[in-house]
Amino acid sequence: MNSTEQSNASCVSIQKSTYEHININTLLQPLGGIRQYIEKGEHVLLKTNLLIPSDPIKAVVTNPAVIRAVAQMILEIGGIPYIGDSPSGQFTKRRLEKTYTKSGLTALANDLGIELNYDTGVTKINISDGKKLKKTLFCDFVLNADKIIAFPKIKTHSFMIMTLATKIMYGAVPGLTKTKYHSLFIRRAAFADMLLDVLSVRTPDLFIMDGVTGMQGNGPSGGTPVSLGVLLASDDAIAMDLAICNMLGIEPIGIPTLRQANIRRLWPSEIQYPLLSPDDVHYSGFLLPSTIDLLVPSSKKRRQQPVPTAKCTACGQCVEICPKKAIRIIQNRASVDYSKCIACYCCHEICPYEAIKLEFVT
Ligand code: SF4
Ligand code: SF4
Repeated sequence: MNSTEQSNASCVSIQKSTYEHININTLLQPLGGIRQYIEKGEHVLLKTNLLIPSDPIKAVVTNPAVIRAVAQMILEIGGIPYIGDSPSGQFTKRRLEKTYTKSGLTALANDLGIELNYDTGVTKINISDGKKLKKTLFCDFVLNADKIIAFPKIKTHSFMIMTLATKIMYGAVPGLTKTKYHSLFIRRAAFADMLLDVLSVRTPDLFIMDGVTGMQGNGPSGGTPVSLGVLLASDDAIAMDLAICNMLGIEPIGIPTLRQANIRRLWPSEIQYPLLSPDDVHYSGFLLPSTIDLLVPSSKKRRQQPVPTAKCTACGQCVEICPKKAIRIIQNRASVDYSKCIACYCCHEICPYEAIKLEFVT
């Protein structure tokens, strides 16, 4: 993490953008340009957000137009970009193929002549100063990179409220190990601390946030796209996430990762905005998930539970991912045993048919 003490000032570059006209040069210029981060001959992981196989128009995954613009710039200076992530579910070549193709990255990689990662190797890593995790499995394709540029997306998250730059490296934890951590870290604060531990294993050198089209409501896969029209760049994940809260009018202490980062004294003392400020791109009425309750007095908190609907095709993906084995297929529909459910919302996140609703427990 670049801002390890509260005395550090951080820089967040913000510009208005569409997917048709992306000017990465201008965005990165206040940070020193791409050469500040990448040297000729370096293998550069473009760590995208590939939650599930999904058409980019749905705003579930990072839009390939943003990755294309950065990959072209890296190629121009002689770097060797490659694209990778570990989506939800099994970390297998087959699932990667499906995810890349549906998300528009196979076509992009073929067009630019760059590689998509298919290495599913993992290594056990010690995190000596981890608060919740002292060791973890980590994907080799991340560890093998000379440099990492991460591409988070502005999205809501039913469990973590927002999934932004501080959560992007959870995709470096392989497949179903992520599911195990939901079972180990049931409370939001503990899960957020685990995410900060993961981020510290290999913090990206640069973050470029896709906020052209974001997601609001019950994300990270079941919300609705929202046109925000921005790109952000920074080498400080926390500064970037604070800037987005500012832009969307969200109280940052209500976001578990930012709240735990504040407790760890990781917030920068100052954020500089050399291009636009969050006020310049302010968006009113952004819808947070219905599950937000961090700012609600505990006496008034009401839990939400996942409810499979008639859209269910009995594909079984939620059964596989549920960390508490709380879901079975009964009469061709997913059925939840609420006595086992810990409200992690992994089932809601992975369902490819948006067949799981979140409803208040009565
Ligand atoms: S709820 Fe969704 S993920 Fe679960 S079995 Fe039905 S369609 Fe598949
Ligand atoms: S049923 Fe869904 S929300 Fe409940 S524990 Fe399983 S995956 Fe998590």
